[in-house]
Amino acid sequence: MEKRNLTCIVCPMGCSLEVELENGMVRSVTGNSCPRGAEYAKNECTHPTRVLTTTVKVVDGKRPLASVKSAGAIPKELLFEAMKTINCLSVPAPVELGQVLLTDLCGSGIPLVATGSVEKTED
Ligand code: SF4
Repeated sequence: MEKRNLTCIVCPMGCSLEVELENGMVRSVTGNSCPRGAEYAKNECTHPTRVLTTTVKVVDGKRPLASVKSAGAIPKELLFEAMKTINCLSVPAPVELGQVLLTDLCGSGIPLVATGSVEKTED
């Protein structure tokens, strides 16, 4: 039996979780104050995912960067590749809040969307 200690990141309570695993399968979760913690622990031990939040370069914008995030959680193992892709990306101004900048972030099926707007510079 393997044991893992995690901190739940679903809400600011940050409960300390203890997970018992057997042959890669979650057998029990303790320390969670609500069911979301058990769900988080199971996912974290079997298929960890994260919402990616960062910025993208903007061409001809009043600001050089637009804030962006993945529209949902992507597999943790794709985060490095996703950051490389986003660092190579530049989008033309204007950028609108909620605008889809990539439809499929690194094969995850999750879009990359703007979380802030950037106006175009005046000529
Ligand atoms: S177990 Fe529930 S209460 Fe505790 S941090 Fe996770 S979501 Fe919050």
